[in-house]
Amino acid sequence: MKLAYFIGLFHVLPMPRPIQATLHTAALRHNLALARQAAPDAQVWAVVKANAYGHGIERVFDGLRGADGFALLDLGEAERVRALGWRGPILLLEGAFEARDLELCSRLHLWHTVHCDEQIDMLALHKTHEPHRVFLKMNSGMNRLGFAPQRFRSAWTRLNALPQVDEISLMTHFSDADGPKGIAAQMALFEEATRDLPGERSVSNSAATLRHAHDLAVKADWIRPGIAVYGSSPDFPEHSAAHWGLLPAMSLHAQIIAVQHLQAGDSVGYGSSFVADQAMRIGVVACGYADGYPRSCPTGTPVLVDGARSRTVGRVSMDMLTVDLSSLSDAGVGSVVTLWGQSAQGAVLSIDEVAQAAGTVGYELMCALAARVPVVVV
Ligand SMILES: *Cc1c(COP(=O)(O)O)cnc(C)c1O
Repeated sequence: MKLAYFIGLFHVLPMPRPIQATLHTAALRHNLALARQAAPDAQVWAVVKANAYGHGIERVFDGLRGADGFALLDLGEAERVRALGWRGPILLLEGAFEARDLELCSRLHLWHTVHCDEQIDMLALHKTHEPHRVFLKMNSGMNRLGFAPQRFRSAWTRLNALPQVDEISLMTHFSDADGPKGIAAQMALFEEATRDLPGERSVSNSAATLRHAHDLAVKADWIRPGIAVYGSSPDFPEHSAAHWGLLPAMSLHAQIIAVQHLQAGDSVGYGSSFVADQAMRIGVVACGYADGYPRSCPTGTPVLVDGARSRTVGRVSMDMLTVDLSSLSDAGVGSVVTLWGQSAQGAVLSIDEVAQAAGTVGYELMCALAARVPVVVV
């Protein structure tokens, strides 16, 4: 059995160490379909910024090509999406950073966000044969990017007068779609300031799509799901990924490479942060913080060993971490540990649970998967 998992889960050769991330194309397709279902009248931007939230743009492309467009913010990543043969819409979520970026927009037919006066100035000086499709962004309360509601109309008017500009869409971004504050106040500001402006609307990230898509106020032409597409819940722990029906797009597996037998009073790892209060077996796993597993995960962080739930003990080190095998008598050297995602036996450990133990969110963990971890796409 162990050998079978080994061959099934670890088929990158030569393997530097017994650790591997698996990307599940079927899960990406499933999650994308779920987002579409939540807002059936909207077109869907698959958000693939930050190298597809750490998954790798080239690796997720097949799973996400059913989207209506790809949204990202790094111009190099936009080039990579075009290099994959994608001819549909690509949206730069932060727009141009400097004037020459607009040349790339013209050449690759990129749609781009306009969130400040300086970007309108750049457009006004840009020489292009084909006018650009732009997404004019309102700052409705997040206070990162966008025009204040009272300045939005004048920005629109200025943009609309430019020969460089084709269609203008209207967008904003919610600060609290995942929490109790919700989206009502920001939505009201957006609606009020855009009521009689033409153009398509785009407001919803994953949390707004899943939690608020049925609110009439969020009648949107384009939704922008990111995290949900990768199978992590946007509002964990209020709702789990399983609650939303999301499947993990990434699984991280490693093997046990040694077993230690502790007596009461023995400690494990740096700083002796865990001390056994009775005799116990410990498995040493070939995964550490240099692989992207957070060092901040304390004793008790959930893991799956051969598909059965257990917990970490002691401090996570650079290349290894240690797990409790006390109640898992069949587990030993060669057992497969699922750090997050799906085990060969079918059990799922959501990345959100691990992130919570580390005091962060699933987004950060998936983005931090280290380059040294071999990745296999299934
Ligand atoms: C990242 C991002 C999204 C996607 O957010 P998720 O929470 O991952 O769904 C949507 N819109 C904008 C402007 C973003 O920057």
